[in-house]
Amino acid sequence: MLEFIKKVLTKISSNKYDFETLEGIQNIPIPKYKPLQGMSSPVNNVEYILQKKATEHKKNGRMDLAIACLRKANEIFPYSNFAWLEEDYMRLVEYLKSNRQFEEARKEEQKIKEMFQYSRAIFEGKRIETNIVGLSEKDVIDVFGGLVESFDLKCCCEECAKYAKRIFSIDGKDKRFPMLPDCIKYYNNNHKYCQTPLNAFLFGVDEPRWSYSGNLVDWSNREYKDERSKEQKESFENMIREKEETAKDKEFYDLIFEKFPEIAPKSFGGYRRMKASNSENYKKLLLKAEELLGYNFYAN
Ligand SMILES: [Zn+2]
Repeated sequence: MLEFIKKVLTKISSNKYDFETLEGIQNIPIPKYKPLQGMSSPVNNVEYILQKKATEHKKNGRMDLAIACLRKANEIFPYSNFAWLEEDYMRLVEYLKSNRQFEEARKEEQKIKEMFQYSRAIFEGKRIETNIVGLSEKDVIDVFGGLVESFDLKCCCEECAKYAKRIFSIDGKDKRFPMLPDCIKYYNNNHKYCQTPLNAFLFGVDEPRWSYSGNLVDWSNREYKDERSKEQKESFENMIREKEETAKDKEFYDLIFEKFPEIAPKSFGGYRRMKASNSENYKKLLLKAEELLGYNFYAN
């Protein structure tokens, strides 16, 4: 009887994770998840709890435990039933930086960037290498005859925009439709701001999500030109400008935070607010940074 109680107790305690010690966090196993149904949320997942615990530990000044939690969360993310984003992985990098472990931060950042460059999204633990939503190329060929539908592409560059609202053949075997161009098929750095998702399309069964005139084959082979409105083009340009400005500011902030912490504002958010208000302190900071760096960061 005692043996039985001991067994039960061991089982109960093994189901409860220890988030409060380095060893406990490191020993959390990678769970075996069942796929989430529909719009489920991952709040009961251990990698979600780890992220919350990281925030808690950071607040309490235990950066070692906070970092261990995020490290473990990153280890679990690829196996999750939820598609975690690059920014979720990057929290570890930010925590390492704020703990002044810059070399380690660079190493982790490199790892994450490489992983996402290769596979833009992680879906149900499978690596998806193309922009086709949720399916591998093989699935599209086997089940959908190799056909995909592009969307009404508004948030993309001039080149990608030409491929909006068409049916494509991904392997070129269905000669009725144009071959899917690589520029929207794969994620690529030259088009990193272009949102060009593709849906598998069963010809004769599925209806496109956009309206068209005439028949779908002729429509898909219509002349290639950028059909976006002036407003759509402008909003895309603005979006890029904002993203690049934020990235540049982040680079500047990280640089001074690492090299000259005595002049760096407490947080990146604080730096951005200071810059937006163009305060006297901001102007002084720029001058001081230029003097210490020996060059004007924003000039190049
Ligand atoms: Zn593009």
